[in-house]
Amino acid sequence: MQSTMTDIPTLPASPFSREANADPVELRKFGDLAHRWWDRSGEFAPLHAINPLRLDWIAARTALRGARVLDIGCGGGILAESMAQRGADVTGIDLSEKPLSVAALHGLESGVAVRYEQVSAEDMAAREPASFDVVTCMEMLEHVPDPASVVRACAALVKPAGRVFFSTINRNPKAYFFAVLGAEYLLRLLPRGTHDYQRFITPAELSRHARAASLEIDAMTGLHYNPLTKRYWLAPNVDVNYMIATRRSST
Ligand code: SAH
Repeated sequence: MQSTMTDIPTLPASPFSREANADPVELRKFGDLAHRWWDRSGEFAPLHAINPLRLDWIAARTALRGARVLDIGCGGGILAESMAQRGADVTGIDLSEKPLSVAALHGLESGVAVRYEQVSAEDMAAREPASFDVVTCMEMLEHVPDPASVVRACAALVKPAGRVFFSTINRNPKAYFFAVLGAEYLLRLLPRGTHDYQRFITPAELSRHARAASLEIDAMTGLHYNPLTKRYWLAPNVDVNYMIATRRSST
């Protein structure tokens, strides 16, 4: 059937810029599961399990107490709350509305104060450049159409000499096996369709995006899981899940 201009539906009013670097399917996926965010045995159990590891890894590299921290793609606020509990002044942003409501509600229950806002990293960067001591962006880059643009926004948001932390999933056959087949199909750790292999990012690609944005890499670690012992730990191998610590140049 021929399509004419008048067939094109108008988009509903959106709280973020039309051209936002976001995939609505991804945002809906997280929205649909949001009520389960704080269920430690639910779909987000892996995020709960890795949180102490990543929190300690961050805290070993930067002072959290009194720091202004921005958590990008914060979801239901697992990392955001834990950083606030360490004394940071935390803002969490995400583009999916329901996880943010869940995060705000959880904050009321736990008494841990975090500001949450539905805004993109890019819009926040235009609004509050060089405003944060620390920026974290965990398990989010592999869900966005243009991860390099998010990395640039992180670099713009952090103060000179401030720290930016990323975590994501490597792209290679082993990562496909563990992160997609293993986690989603065999172990059912995550719902099927959580991850799109094409969007996985190699450490070389992420490092390139970071350097291009004047973020110098100062540490990298792999995040490992043993399904038999259900234990998570950090180790140098970055074949599957990994984190990168970066520092913005001081000028
Ligand atoms: N960072 C959190 C949540 C990871 S789940 C943690 O590690 O605990 C991925 C999150 O990224 C979801 O909340 C999803 O809504 C968010 N997200 C996906 N695309 C996004 C985008 N373009 N902008 C902001 N957030 C996004």
